[in-house]
Amino acid sequence: MISVKKAKEKVLETKIISRKKKVQILDSLGFVLAEDIVSKDDIPVYDNSAMDGFAIRALDIKGAEKNYPVRLTLSSEDIPAGKLPKEKINPGFCTPIMTGASIPDGCDAVIMKEDTQREANNVLIFKECQAGENIRNRGEDIKRGERVLAKGETIYPADIGVMASLGFSEVLVNCAPAVGIIATGDELLEVGKDLTIGMVRDSNSYSLSAQVKEMGIEYLRYGIVEDDLKTMTKNIERALAENDILILSGGVSVGDYDFVKDSLNNIGAKQVFWKVNQKPGKPMAFYKYNDKFIFGLPGNPVSVMVCFEIYVRPLIRKIMGHKNINRPVILARASHDFKNKKGRTNFVRVVIEKKDGQCFFSSTGLQGSGILTSMIKADGIAVFPEDIGDVKKDSIVEVFLLKE
Ligand code: AMP
Ligand code: MG
Repeated sequence: MISVKKAKEKVLETKIISRKKKVQILDSLGFVLAEDIVSKDDIPVYDNSAMDGFAIRALDIKGAEKNYPVRLTLSSEDIPAGKLPKEKINPGFCTPIMTGASIPDGCDAVIMKEDTQREANNVLIFKECQAGENIRNRGEDIKRGERVLAKGETIYPADIGVMASLGFSEVLVNCAPAVGIIATGDELLEVGKDLTIGMVRDSNSYSLSAQVKEMGIEYLRYGIVEDDLKTMTKNIERALAENDILILSGGVSVGDYDFVKDSLNNIGAKQVFWKVNQKPGKPMAFYKYNDKFIFGLPGNPVSVMVCFEIYVRPLIRKIMGHKNINRPVILARASHDFKNKKGRTNFVRVVIEKKDGQCFFSSTGLQGSGILTSMIKADGIAVFPEDIGDVKKDSIVEVFLLKE
């Protein structure tokens, strides 16, 4: 049996060269850039108005005040956004201009509409302003040739907006791994079926699929495979041909009908480890097959979800090229005493509350690995390391966050 730390190292030790693909910018959200984004334009590409108001010469309205307005004459054109001004504005004149419109020749500032009053062919200006005021200068946001986004960065909504403003409709990203999910067990029922004695509905393939989906990537759910060596081997082979990561639930322990390891050995997959010194999820197995990864997760519904969080999710993020592969971790204070067996890592589902600027955690209730509702309530998972026993009220422990 190996430690959680060692198991995590083994899962993440493979050097990954991510595959890359071009995608529509909207489909790149949450992926990692595989190319630099360099601007071909100045943004904005022309000096333009930051306000609705009047384009003026700052010199003309020097000294303007509420009680001593300066009177300017309206030029014959006005400039909505998108229209190119044709006229040069002479001293003593001004022209109505809208936000985003190009600044006409002869003007060096925009006075906002709220500081003016229109009177027939004249405009009274009640405030002076400096040259350059309310003008957004060419290239002030982005300069032509500037690297705006760097390869290796995770793509957020603002990045997609920037790519659109720069004229990129597609972008190169690292591919996510293809993830396949198989639930094993003779006792498993499809979701639509009524429960009978001895049977349970397959929830694992759903919670695992949802965990993958939460990462913004695709999954293939293969449904239920019976506890039979031949059938299991065949199904595993097929799923491996179609995926980079295969997640199996159940059948990995020491039971007489636990055939996952035998099936994997049959096809020549290499066992990296089996059994981790942790609760829940002790009988977890990890295999490699060529450049593919196989997780044999214990069938208990909490174990699969916790093992996914601890091992599978970071591996998927590593393959995607994310710099930060782990969930955010906080230091939180125990709201009450926790019974805890020393000598193994214990992953405890907890509710987090903020009091006086500090985070406190309390148990979600029953912590059995079959109590899936303990995951519903969980804001996070507190990690009680191997070398500590009972956790006393007010102890500070690392908790990684599952929810916002
Ligand atoms: P196993 O690891 O196959 O010994 O299964 C351990 C426990 O998890 C048993 O009580 C199973 O009934 C339960 N279990 C296994 N697979 C699933 C599944 N797909 N959905 C819900 N419970 C499961
Ligand atoms: Mg089973």
